[in-house]
Amino acid sequence: MKTNDVEILVIGAGIVGIATAYYMAVQHKRSRVLIVDEGQPMALTSAQSGENYRNWWPHPTMADFTNHSTDLMEEIARRSDNRIHMTRRGYLLVTREEKPEELLQQLYAGYGPQAEKLIRLHE
Ligand SMILES: Cc1cc2nc3c(=O)[nH]c(=O)nc-3n(C[C@H](O)[C@H](O)[C@H](O)COP(=O)(O)OP(=O)(O)OC[C@H]3O[C@@H](n4cnc5c(N)ncnc54)[C@H](O)[C@@H]3O)c2cc1C
Repeated sequence: MKTNDVEILVIGAGIVGIATAYYMAVQHKRSRVLIVDEGQPMALTSAQSGENYRNWWPHPTMADFTNHSTDLMEEIARRSDNRIHMTRRGYLLVTREEKPEELLQQLYAGYGPQAEKLIRLHE
């Protein structure tokens, strides 16, 4: 691709840059997308990730945002016969707090009206 053919230039080939370019191409049908990176793709922060995902955030906006991301990943998993090896093994959150009420309040706030249905507590 010649440089003057490029419509959208994505700087950085980590997971965010690659996802941006992917959705520009697949969802928004843009064909003149170029990703550049000063190093190797997926070699910096994205190479360190534990690849876990969760939607526990203390604010409903972040819960919505991560729910949307999870929906997008599930769609990719469905369409690709789960080539991304997505699993739902759950997320174990452990705290040294003897009284975790504040953490729990954040959890309820993040999930909003759905909280009672979604949260399971074990003593
Ligand atoms: C130890 C660890 C564990 C993690 N575990 C999880 C997890 O379980 N779940 C989760 O959701 N998140 C996790 N994260 C966070 C997650 O990995 C990052 O949020 C994510 O990888 C960031 O992606 P990115 O594309 O923004 O950045 P990067 O992967 O850092 O990509 C940025 C790219 O931009 C390039 N770049 C930068 N500046 C320039 C420039 N001027 N010109 C050209 N290229 C440039 C870099 O070379 C790099 O390739 C973890 C992070 C760490 C460190």
